[in-house]
Amino acid sequence: VQSAIVVHGGAGAIEPAREEACRAGCRAAAASGWQVLKAGGTARAAAVAAVRTLEENPEFNAGLGACLTRTGSVELDAAVMCGQRFSLGAVGAVVGVESGILLADAILEDGEHIFLCGEGAVAFAREKGLTLCPPDALITPRARNRLRKWMEKREARMSEPPPESVTPDGDSLDRGTVGAVAVDAQGHYAAATSTGGMVGKRPGRVGDTPLIGCGTYADDRAGGAASATGHGEQIARVLLCRTAVDYIAGGMTAAAAARASLDVLRNRTSASAGIILVDREGRLGHHRTTKTMPWASVVDDKVEDGV
Ligand code: ASP
Repeated sequence: VQSAIVVHGGAGAIEPAREEACRAGCRAAAASGWQVLKAGGTARAAAVAAVRTLEENPEFNAGLGACLTRTGSVELDAAVMCGQRFSLGAVGAVVGVESGILLADAILEDGEHIFLCGEGAVAFAREKGLTLCPPDALITPRARNRLRKWMEKREARMSEPPPESVTPDGDSLDRGTVGAVAVDAQGHYAAATSTGGMVGKRPGRVGDTPLIGCGTYADDRAGGAASATGHGEQIARVLLCRTAVDYIAGGMTAAAAARASLDVLRNRTSASAGIILVDREGRLGHHRTTKTMPWASVVDDKVEDGV
């Protein structure tokens, strides 16, 4: 298998004015992961490096620029999984830690547990010497704006007759969760995903991102890895990433598995979403049923991107 990496910057409907910034952010992230692979690094290290690059970029809903809960706080979810031994690390609803993905990676490295949330996760981060930050350090003006808009819409909704559907329209949300999947020269697969979740979520809510098989999954034996983005409550119902990797195990290409898994999501929950994949041959796949999902990939030093 040849090494390869693909990243996404969240399914949704970004305004045309932000398109180029998001694509450029994805290209930079894919390139940072590719540098790791090229230097002989692992798929895990590459995926984590790419996701960290996107967390540092305030355009995306992860790390700096993460979206806000309805009480105005940032709570991070993140996960990383290696397909070789099913090793994984995940965090949910973490406040006051600079990087969700570095914390998830430290949990994977430590190996005792697979999932830490809330205060215990912060204590673990402190113990491991990860960078802590004041609770509001990751809040950007754009994130504040998005919460304000969410609140205005919610008020408008509340003064209307009861809604027919409680499923938020996938396209109406400008999301920006980030993820990366990679395969390295040893043929090992990894997936990493990081997010602030959904704007206006309840404090304490954890989405699909850190739930293994839902927002993140990798399996060397299947020969695939996946990272998903979209409405977490719906993605989790169909274990979207595990579903996609199962399709790869069954012989589908990454591109076909991306489509087939999003069909399952649509048929079972009527939700739209986005997913990136790498398959047995190291082929990359990306697909979305939302209006946009910025992505970028690198294979053989060749960068591709889109939205
Ligand atoms: N899947 C994320 C969540 O529900 C949101 C997103 O992908 O934008 O937490």
